[in-house]
Amino acid sequence: MLIAQNLTEIKSQLPKQVTLVAVSKTKPVADLMEAYNAGQRIFGENKIQEMTDKWEDMPKDIEWHMIGHVQTNKVKYMAPYVSLIHGVDSLKLLQEINKQAAKNNRVIDCLLQVYIAEEESKFGLDEQELEEMLNKLLDSARSDNKTLKNIRIVGLMGMATFTENKDQIEKEFKHLKTIFDKHKTLNTEHCQLNTLSMGMSGDYQLAISCGSTMVRIGSSIFGSR
Ligand SMILES: *Cc1c(COP(=O)(O)O)cnc(C)c1O
Repeated sequence: MLIAQNLTEIKSQLPKQVTLVAVSKTKPVADLMEAYNAGQRIFGENKIQEMTDKWEDMPKDIEWHMIGHVQTNKVKYMAPYVSLIHGVDSLKLLQEINKQAAKNNRVIDCLLQVYIAEEESKFGLDEQELEEMLNKLLDSARSDNKTLKNIRIVGLMGMATFTENKDQIEKEFKHLKTIFDKHKTLNTEHCQLNTLSMGMSGDYQLAISCGSTMVRIGSSIFGSR
């Protein structure tokens, strides 16, 4: 009951253009089903094995988003069904996603993760690495043997520093929005930035005010982990 209530309350606060990813990592299928029965169809997980188990057990009209760091050797387990991979931060990973997507006759949507926090531990590309990646994608789009035709880059993802300092978080979100806007005009069949994934339970309102179009909310829906 509480899960359904939390969902309704959060959804009532989201502008129309903002997509809600219900982050269900570590939570049992019963909890996810409660959200499902309240209408939620997009779930985010950060471990491929756990996500795959839940995908097997749950209705097939769910969109599964991988929001965690992805190991290349595990991409094959989610390639048959994953809807969006948020944390792509290397060409090697992108190539593996492309390869596994091809094996499954699919095109898999991805977000490039950009490093915006001050902490050392967060994954992601810096601005220069992002430009290099986008250039590689442009090269692929222009070449005759399109090497990356089973992936589609649909946007960017970022995580702010884990801090109580709202000014700092706002600065980081605005920085990501600026980077996003800079590359928004890119428009090839396999790269078009429409989605900006930023904001979690503690900072999603701020993220939305800074231009987020996709929020990843866990504990405010399902309770603390
Ligand atoms: C766990 C997680 C979230 C959700 O965090 P909450 O604070 O529970 O809302 C969002 N994004 C990523 C990448 C996560 O790993």
